Formats: sequence, C-alpha cells, structure tokens
Amino acid sequence: MKTIFEKTNGVQGVLLTDEKEDLSFIDKKFVRKSQIGLPQVGELDAMRHYKELSDKNFCIEKGFYPLGSCTMKYNPKVNELLASLEGFSSLHPEVDDEDCQGALELMYKLQEALKVITGMDAVTLQPAAGAHGELTGMMVIKKYFEVKGENRKKVIIPDSAHGTNPASAHLCGFDIISVKSNEKGQVDIEELKKLLDSDVAAIMMTNPNTLGIFEENVLEISNLMHDNGSLLYYDGANFNAIMGYTNPKLMGFDVVHLNLHKTFSTPHGGGGPGAGPVCVVGNLKEMLPAPVIAYDGEKYYRNYNLKNSIGSVKGFFGNFGVLVRAYAYILMMGKNLKEASENAVLNANYLKEKLKGAYLLPFDEPCMHEFVLSGEKQKEENNVSTLNIAKALMDENTHPPTVYFPLIVHEAIMIEPTESETKEVLDDFVDVMLKIADDAKNNPEKVITAPHSTPVKRLDETLAARKPDLSYKG
Ligand SMILES: *Cc1c(COP(=O)(O)O)cnc(C)c1O
Repeated sequence: MKTIFEKTNGVQGVLLTDEKEDLSFIDKKFVRKSQIGLPQVGELDAMRHYKELSDKNFCIEKGFYPLGSCTMKYNPKVNELLASLEGFSSLHPEVDDEDCQGALELMYKLQEALKVITGMDAVTLQPAAGAHGELTGMMVIKKYFEVKGENRKKVIIPDSAHGTNPASAHLCGFDIISVKSNEKGQVDIEELKKLLDSDVAAIMMTNPNTLGIFEENVLEISNLMHDNGSLLYYDGANFNAIMGYTNPKLMGFDVVHLNLHKTFSTPHGGGGPGAGPVCVVGNLKEMLPAPVIAYDGEKYYRNYNLKNSIGSVKGFFGNFGVLVRAYAYILMMGKNLKEASENAVLNANYLKEKLKGAYLLPFDEPCMHEFVLSGEKQKEENNVSTLNIAKALMDENTHPPTVYFPLIVHEAIMIEPTESETKEVLDDFVDVMLKIADDAKNNPEKVITAPHSTPVKRLDETLAARKPDLSYKG
C-alpha cells in the first residue's frame, strides 16, 4: 500500500487560502518561501486511504479479542456520545468550581460509586492509567510510614504479578522482594512468613491473581501483614472478576487501584487515554493526591485541604472523558455489574474446560475471569511454540491471547474472554483453537509459518521497539 505522500497527485481537497489574495500586509519574514510539504489528494481519495489503513487493523469491532489481563470487552458506544457532549468536552479545566458544578458532581458521584464497589473509604480520580495508580498508591503507602516515623524499605510481590507492580514500587524507592507461588498457583504462605520483618512496608497482590486463580488464603495473608505492621495493596485492574461478589476491603486490603479503561467502559489499546483511580481505607485518606472532589451539602468543590497529601500526580481533573464513560456505565449497569462479573467468570471457565484436553492446563483449578494454558505439549511434540499458535490465530480473525505471561508458566497462553461475548463466539474460538492444535500435530509447518493472511507477516518486534521508523522521507 502506498503512503499518502506517494499518493499526492495535484488534486486539492481544500483551498486553505486564495493565492491571488493580497498577502502584503503580512510581514515578509512570516511568509512561507517553499511548499509546506503536506500530502495532498482529493477528499474522497483521502477518505479511502484512511479507511484502507484502518481495515488493516484488528479491533474488537472486527472479531474476538481474548487478550488476557487486558479485558478487551465491548464498551457501549453510547458512552462515547456522552463523553463528547459539549458541556463536558468543551469545559476548560481552569474554570472556577461554581462554573463546573455538573462536572464536579459527576466526579464526586463516581468517587462515591467506586467506594461502594471497592468497599474503600476515599478515592482519587487523578491517575491516568493502571501503572500510574500503582505508583500513586505506593506513594501513599510510603507517606503513611513517613508520617508514622517508620522507614520501611521492602515491598513483597508474588512471582506471578503484572510487571508494572515491581516497576511502580521500585520507582517509588522500595526494594522488591519476590514471593513464590505454590503448586496451586497461589502465594505460598510459609514462604511469605519467612520474608516478614519490620522492614516490610507492604505486599502488592492481584486477586484473582494473573493465573486467574482466587487466592484462598487472602484473609490469612492480610492478618499476617497487618500483624507485621505492613499494608496491603490490591491491583484491581481486572475488577470484572469480582464486582458485587466481594471487594478488597473485605479481603483486608488498604489501597486499591482500578483500571476504568478495562473494567468500566473506556476502549483501550493503542496507548490510551485511561484512568487508574486509587481507593484507600480511612486512615490513608489524608495522604491522597490533592485535590479530591468534595461536597458540602450545597456545592461540589475541589478540596486541596489534605493534611499529608502526596501532592498532585496529574494536571487538572485527570482524564475526565474516561470518568464520564465510567460513571455512565456504572449508572447503566447498576446492580447488573454483578452479572458482568458472573458472565466473565462463567465464560472463562467454559473455555478452560473446552480447551484443557488439547492444551496443557498447568493449574487445573476453577478460574475467575481468565485462565492460563501452556503450549508446552505442542512445543515438545511438534516444535510448535506458543508464538506460532498466537500467529496462527491471526489467520482466523481472532486476536491472539496474551502470551509468555505470567512468567511462571512456560509457553504461557493467557485467555480472557470477558463478559460480553456470546456462547456462539466462544464455541467458534474453541473450534479454532482445536483446529490449530490439530494442525500443530498434522501440519506443523503451516502453524510455524503463520500468519498467512495478514497485511504484514512476522515483524521484528525488538527492532520495531528499539529503532522505530515512523516518518516519511520522500
Ligand atoms: C493492565 C494491568 C495493569 C496496568 O495498567 P495500565 O493502564 O496498562 O498501566 C496492572 N495490573 C494488571 C493486573 C493489569 O492487567
């Protein structure tokens, strides 16, 4: 496919200025001496060019997207409409509180809703993504110990954790101590006990963990940590696993972040924007980033008056459009948020049971919203790797699952169907996965050389990340 620069053909889409117009009133030094160098084609050609480009992309509108830990569900399009309402989208972030009462009310009510959903006592909507929420939460924890006059340096993180967990804690100045998982894919309590001392500030956990398995001993863990004077951080990026069934407060956690762009209706992929609100228990309330949105019974306002605030972590209101979508989604769903979790868990278990014969299931436990298979059998028997299987899925109008994560599973294939797919879609996916398993056995070359039908074949991902070549040099 040609670039839009190569398609430039002398046809003009728009006339920016009438060249015959007298421009002598402009100071000469501001008048352009050469061509501007923009591509130029007719309006229809421009439209077709970008449509063709977008057709080369895969998206949720095109097919099944079971990318584990990413919750690529359907996000109601009506929420896009609401986020783009002029009163929201044209609101200047510098306006006074009295001139943006509606926006503040929305944020306040979203904070209240997230308090109910997480069981926590206070919320900041500022962080712009999950990892940013983690950093904010860890800063709050650091501040908590600072105020207490304790200098705890260590944070314990299970070996199955999302990579952002150790990165965020480390960025915050903590030393990372890894705790092993046991044969059930859960935190090994005996190992954990050995790691506890007065230097441990917190444990960062994901529950259900990244294997999709619920940590049965979470209450014992929270007692152990609190008895040790430590706090518990909950990575709630994939909250669709538990909404309405339980919450981090009931499990004994002190800080939790949510990914509004996973669980609460903001489409993601391609880099955002997102929102990673952080919710905390009462004794950490004063450490949240200022301002938080407050209500005095008459007016909504930005409250900067937090005694031990860690300061601001994001300009203005955070990513406000994402907050609008989340609030609309929560209002729309109401008590059915619980049903979303129910379906997310049901769908994952359905797929797990259908696929566990053809692929290895390293932790054969009931799962929550996702589960992790291994491609080890295919690798050993036919030298077909998980990467090959992922590429073969692209030929079947299916986005590959997350692969090679979590790190504790060899040849990992991490599948998250989400709540919004029908049984028919899930059954089609099962057929495709079984067909690929069959091909791996009987026609391995086909899988090893996949994809065969995509616009580009296998890319050198390292080179693409290290030396991206993004500009057109004509
Ligand atoms: C996605 C995810 C994150 C990070 O969220 P970002 O918005 O990508 O920064 C953290 N933890 C888990 C478990 C996740 O799935």
